Amino acid sequence: MSDAARFDEPVSRPVWRRFAVRFVDRALAYVGDGGFAAVVHPDGAVEALLPRREDGTLASLGWWALASLDAAPASRDPDGAGPHRTRLDALQAEAVLDWCDRDAVHPGPRRAMPLDCVACTACCQDAHVVLEAADVERLGAVLGSNGAPLARDAEGRLHLVFVDGRCPNLEVAGACRIYSERPDACREFPPGSEPCLAAREETLGLRDEVADEEALASEECN
Ligand code: SF4
Ligand code: SF4
Repeated sequence: MSDAARFDEPVSRPVWRRFAVRFVDRALAYVGDGGFAAVVHPDGAVEALLPRREDGTLASLGWWALASLDAAPASRDPDGAGPHRTRLDALQAEAVLDWCDRDAVHPGPRRAMPLDCVACTACCQDAHVVLEAADVERLGAVLGSNGAPLARDAEGRLHLVFVDGRCPNLEVAGACRIYSERPDACREFPPGSEPCLAAREETLGLRDEVADEEALASEECN
């Protein structure tokens, strides 16, 4: 659950679009307008083109999209000019082209999504929340008193143990019991990112609301 659990304004997220490599100039312009581009080469290889911030770092939602594909750069330091370009392997390309299909209903490079984390809580039911040392120090007393189990993962990192598919700190009404002290991973999780959309799809069955509404409308017409 991110820093702002409820948003007064819809969250703006990038829209994925596919481009044949001969239209790479259009893809670059599209990324310049804030969208995410998948550039398809004649041999089927796919490259992701993602916007950078002015300081040359990969913009946050781009980093999270690549992270969800295990393709995020090791460092978040500035590493070039122009869009960030990542050549994808076959499985990563399949996922990105699926996101392009999902987003085909959206006309522009950005999409406004009304999100309410308290009503949603999907990422508190579908996540692997790793605790950093600062989290353990900050949460020590809280974790000791609320009985939320902890464990170490295969890489030796301490993490929250979800029980029956939920974080033990998630109250039935959707609030986080330790909201003001919650782990950094929860604070930094961005609404509207690909992991957010994946959690909503996995937990709530929502594959991007507009697409779902259109599917329902078409079912009603048949
Ligand atoms: S999945 Fe997204 S919208 Fe839902 S609670 Fe998490 S950050 Fe908020
Ligand atoms: S600690 Fe649990 S309930 Fe709280 S924000 Fe993180 S995952 Fe959600």
